[in-house]
Amino acid sequence: MPRPITATIHPAALRHNLERVRHAVPDAKLWAVVKANAYGHGIENVFEALRAADGFAMLDLAEAQQVRSLGWRGPILLLEGVFEPRDLEVCSRLGLWHAVHCDEQIDWLAAHKTQVGHRVFLKMNSGMNRLGFTPERYRSAYARLNALPQVDEISFMTHFSDADVDHGLDRQLAVFHATTQDLPGERSISNSAATLLRGDAAEVRCDWVRPGIVLYGSSPDFPRHDMAGWQLQPSMTLSSRIIGVQMLGAGDTVGYGSRFRAEGPLRMGVVACGYADGYPRHCDTGTPVLVDGVRTRTLGRVSMDMMAVDLTPVPQAGMGSEVTLWGRAAGGAVLPIDEVAAAAGTLGYELMCAVAPRVAKVVE
Ligand code: PLP
Repeated sequence: MPRPITATIHPAALRHNLERVRHAVPDAKLWAVVKANAYGHGIENVFEALRAADGFAMLDLAEAQQVRSLGWRGPILLLEGVFEPRDLEVCSRLGLWHAVHCDEQIDWLAAHKTQVGHRVFLKMNSGMNRLGFTPERYRSAYARLNALPQVDEISFMTHFSDADVDHGLDRQLAVFHATTQDLPGERSISNSAATLLRGDAAEVRCDWVRPGIVLYGSSPDFPRHDMAGWQLQPSMTLSSRIIGVQMLGAGDTVGYGSRFRAEGPLRMGVVACGYADGYPRHCDTGTPVLVDGVRTRTLGRVSMDMMAVDLTPVPQAGMGSEVTLWGRAAGGAVLPIDEVAAAAGTLGYELMCAVAPRVAKVVE
């Protein structure tokens, strides 16, 4: 018997979440962002459910190839463009759209002999200070690209640093639109937070939105809005089972560092899930967890392969009982990944991406 821990992917939830985004921005096209192996879900596990999107966006050429080989003939966008000149050959062959964020990428295009016209998204650094041309250099980059016979179509993009807070878009939005005002081509600027919070404004949704996290059922501005507040459904459930039960007495401690001390008698379950499975070690006592669909808490430190939970609210639970670390329990109760992430001082993004290769992924 393998260890009982499993990550279950829910295609119906992915479809629902995609529909939810469509509803927010009905007249925009939608890149489904599937970078980092579809935020840890496995591209092959989400592809069918997300094929109602208008395109797929990622960073990795191998992931773009995977989406093509799964049968997708529509647009695919490399969000950071190519990492070396020879990647342009693959872009041509697979008909990929690619971001252009620096002079070197333009040099590579200029030197590239291609039969097929490239479609590029010229990336602006409008304030995030990660990748892209500054507003001052943007238009000269555009002129260079526009003069290249290798380039068929130029679109415009930027990425927000603070889309999840009030007025977090304002400065970058103004700079982006002022700089691109009279340039002909499509525009794409909004991630999940911008799309849900401000997508009703045409200058925010533009031609293409680029939602990622919201497709996977995590709230982009938790705790201001939670998953239910955005009417999202969890696309991944991390579940396991109780593999041991201990009766603690007053003063007994649990796990490494003895971080939890029982005040009185307490029935405790040991779960087959640890930080080597991707569960955050920073979740100390009190992190929410479901046992047989009933909400309870973790006890003490998470170890490499195991962790402890309080069975007080679930007296019927014992060996083999279902434990939902996040996602949906068999009976339908839901534990949002955002709550677990908050207890670990991080975000749903990190938890999804961190699920370890040793955890079997099954599609519901
Ligand atoms: N666009 C770009 C360029 C990104 O880097 C990302 C992810 O960080 C996204 C879109 C999707 O962001 P989110 O998952 O917050 O919707």
